Amino acid sequence: MGMNYHSTRNESLVVSDAQAILQGLAPDGGLFVPETIPTCDFSSWQELSFADVAERIFALYFPSLGKERIAQIVKNAYGDRFRDPDVCPVRLLSDRRALLELWHGPTLAFKDVALSALPYLMRAAQEVVGDQERVLILTATSGDTGKAAMEGFSGVPGFGVLVFYPADGVSDAQERQMCTTEADNVFAYAVEGDFDDCQRAVKSLFQDAALSKTLKSSGIRLSSANSINIGRLVPQMIYYITAYHALVKKGEMAYGDLLDVSVPTGNFGDLLAGYYVKRMGLPLGTLVVASNSNHVLSDFGKTGVYDSNRPLVLTTSPSMDILVSSNLERFLYHELGSAETVKGLMEALQKDRRFVLPTKEQSRKKQTEDSVSQEMAGLYWEFANEEEVFRTIAETKKRDHIVIDPHTACGVAVYDTYRRESEGDGSSYGLILSTASPYKFTKTVLSALDREVPKTLEEQWMALSQISGTSIPAPFLHLAECKARQPQRIRLCDAADAVLSFSKGV
Ligand SMILES: *Cc1c(COP(=O)(O)O)cnc(C)c1O
Repeated sequence: MGMNYHSTRNESLVVSDAQAILQGLAPDGGLFVPETIPTCDFSSWQELSFADVAERIFALYFPSLGKERIAQIVKNAYGDRFRDPDVCPVRLLSDRRALLELWHGPTLAFKDVALSALPYLMRAAQEVVGDQERVLILTATSGDTGKAAMEGFSGVPGFGVLVFYPADGVSDAQERQMCTTEADNVFAYAVEGDFDDCQRAVKSLFQDAALSKTLKSSGIRLSSANSINIGRLVPQMIYYITAYHALVKKGEMAYGDLLDVSVPTGNFGDLLAGYYVKRMGLPLGTLVVASNSNHVLSDFGKTGVYDSNRPLVLTTSPSMDILVSSNLERFLYHELGSAETVKGLMEALQKDRRFVLPTKEQSRKKQTEDSVSQEMAGLYWEFANEEEVFRTIAETKKRDHIVIDPHTACGVAVYDTYRRESEGDGSSYGLILSTASPYKFTKTVLSALDREVPKTLEEQWMALSQISGTSIPAPFLHLAECKARQPQRIRLCDAADAVLSFSKGV
């Protein structure tokens, strides 16, 4: 059985699963979505390990890669790169809540789960379509994707990774990570702009016909490691399934009970993976879209108006400092069911930086906020401001003796708000995705815990280790020993030239 994908902006722009992985973005600027979302009886998956679930999910979404290749991909990606035997362990909190820890991989953020698999998925896709070209991966990052992509593709023959991050928009540890690499085929530039500028630049490089042509003549094609690539999204489905089963196994719930999941959200990729899994039949309840002070998404969820005409606020959760969430486009496609409509909305977004969700008929003009949100049933949209983030880090330490990072804190804070507001009988269970290790954001975490913030990163890690009773993660111990290069700045207008000169070494 095959699985095809088509663009969110044109249903007749159809490609195979392998092509969807290789191309990243559809040629019309849309994103690839599966033609059908498969359904499964997940109750029969309860005894499966993380790797087993990964194999089944890849086989469903990327069947043309074949069983053998998929087994090898899973082995390479999840065999020994993660420091926890469960890969993504579940940790119980008080009040029928739990954290899903997604940061036990090489770069200490959840992006590792998908980016550990992506290089192997791409390589397998190349084999399947008989593609001989070298692949240059362009990536905009708000901090975590960049290093995870560099790590995933480091030293992989036939691949190069060029990362663009906002010069003043990432944490010190994140910048240090990106400026410490041992392979020549990966490099990161600090862009003079914010994350949205980086993301726009990358999207326009993809649509730069002259650039593609020049690259093509030297046997290079561009691709993406951002969550616009379906190969990034699909691996993120795995941990929703394993977490659900882990909670059942721990006796926290019975199979079939609805599990609410709160997702710290930026580009909407992680949330979307949960949305797919829910549609596939996993008993998930409400998906909580947790934003930070850049609350474009929460406003959209409440009003149906997506308006990015506002200043980007630099917060303590930089990986969520995003005004244009690219994966919302996939969600809109699945909810509205019309590529024509999505295309119109995306054109409006490009032109006016805003769009208004169409109501079913203009006759329903007098729509209240209520009925708009009903159209997107099953999601709860809210944000946590900086004060709530700080308070949540302190409270979680006090109540649960766990130190969480500021992104995870957004997820916990918004989940608690949801709990207070929803009129449940108190029996619902909440899973909060813990997207980064607190060691990546020591300054914020130490201040939230009312501690002094030492000057150097190394001292900050030590302080956090003492307070939290956890040891400094191995990748950071290693980082402390390596010499980081100076960050290299670049203007947006010079990005295409940077790509050309970097491509010579790929
Ligand atoms: C990328 C990231 C997010 C946001 O995830 P999206 O899939 O972009 O919504 C949240 N937290 C952390 C730590 C991240 O790195």
